[in-house]
Amino acid sequence: MARVYNFCAGPAALPTAVLEKASAEMLDWEGKGLSVMEMSHRSDEYVSIAQKAEQDLRDLLSIPDNYKVLFMQGGATAQFAMIPMNLLRGKKSADYINTGQWSQKAIKEASHYCDVNVVASSEDKNFSYAPRQSDLKLNPDAAYVHYTPNETIGGVEFDYIPETGDVPLVADFSSSILSEKLDVSKFGLIYAGAQKNIGPAGLCIVIVREDLLGETITGTPTAMDYKVAADNDSMYNTPATYSWYLAGLVFDWLKQQGGVEAMAELNRRKAKKLYGYIDASGFYANPVAIENRSRMNVPFTLKDDSFDKAFLAQADAKGLLNLKGHRSVGGMRASIYNAVSEEAVDALIAFMQAFASENG
Ligand SMILES: *Cc1c(COP(=O)(O)O)cnc(C)c1O
Repeated sequence: MARVYNFCAGPAALPTAVLEKASAEMLDWEGKGLSVMEMSHRSDEYVSIAQKAEQDLRDLLSIPDNYKVLFMQGGATAQFAMIPMNLLRGKKSADYINTGQWSQKAIKEASHYCDVNVVASSEDKNFSYAPRQSDLKLNPDAAYVHYTPNETIGGVEFDYIPETGDVPLVADFSSSILSEKLDVSKFGLIYAGAQKNIGPAGLCIVIVREDLLGETITGTPTAMDYKVAADNDSMYNTPATYSWYLAGLVFDWLKQQGGVEAMAELNRRKAKKLYGYIDASGFYANPVAIENRSRMNVPFTLKDDSFDKAFLAQADAKGLLNLKGHRSVGGMRASIYNAVSEEAVDALIAFMQAFASENG
C-alpha cells in the first residue's frame, strides 16, 4: 500500500525510513530475540538506546553541558503544571506571553500555582501576530517568563527570542523543536511534546538548566520533580520506552539529513512555496502577519467556506490527509513538519491549484 501525504498537526507524519527501521527491528532488536517494547528499561540494551537518543539530541541542538535533558510523560500539557511546580523557587509570580490557545492553556494551569502576569497578548488582533520585544511589560521579580514560540493552532511563530535579562526564559517548543538551529543557552527551560516534530506520542522532552533544579513547591509529585528525573536519568519510574526509542531513530535520521541546519533550509523552502501560492491564488488566504507566519503549521481559508467539505473530500481521495483546521478555528491547516517532504508540499499545492481553478 502506498503511503499518503499526511498533514496532521499531531500525532504527525514520521519519516518512512524511521518506520521501516522500527519495523525491521520490531520482533528482534539487533539479534537479541525480542522487541524494544519488551526490554527492561534497566537492561544494558535499553540503556544504550536511551543514551544514544539523548546524545544525538544534544548533538543536533548543541545543548550545553549545564543543561539536563529529561524524557518525561504527560505531554506538554503536564508541563503546564510541572513548570510552576519546579521553577517558582520561592517566587510568587511568573510572566506569560499570550499568543493563542496553547499559551492560554499554559496560563490557566500556572494560575493554580502562582500569580500569572500576562506581559503581552495578541488577542486584540485575533492572535494573528507575535508581540514585539518592546511590547513586553516584564517583571524583574518574576520566577520565569513563558512563551509559545510556535502556536500550532493559529500558525503564529515568533521571529525572535525574547530578551528577559536574568529571569529564566521558558518555551513550549512542541511544534517547532528541531526545525531550525536554536541557541539553547538563551533559555532556562525548553519543552516539547514528541508527537509533532520528534516521534510518537507519550513522550515529552524537557531541556532545563541545571541550576534551576531542586526547589519544587510543597506537594510536588515525585514523578513531576525535574531534579528526581535528572538524578535518575529519566528512569525514576518506567519511562515511555518505545516512544523514546523511536525518537532516537528520528534523531538519527535527522543527523543523516544534515542536521537541523539542513532541515531549516528545507522547511523555509516548503513554507515559502505554500504561503507564496496561497497569497497569489486569489482563492485561499492566511491571516497571519507575514513575519510571524509559522514554518510548521499553515492555516488557510477558502474563498467561501461552503467549499470546505468538497476540498477535504477531494484532498482525501488524492491521498492528501488531515487538512481540516482545528475544530476551534475551522478552515484548513497543513502541518509541514520535518518529516513532511517537499514532494508532499508540491502535491498539496498542485491539488489546491486544480481545486481553485475548478471552483474559482
Ligand atoms: C500539541 C501542543 C501541546 C499539547 O501537547 P500534549 O502532548 O497533547 O499535551 C502544547 N503546546 C503546543 C504548542 C502544542 O502544539
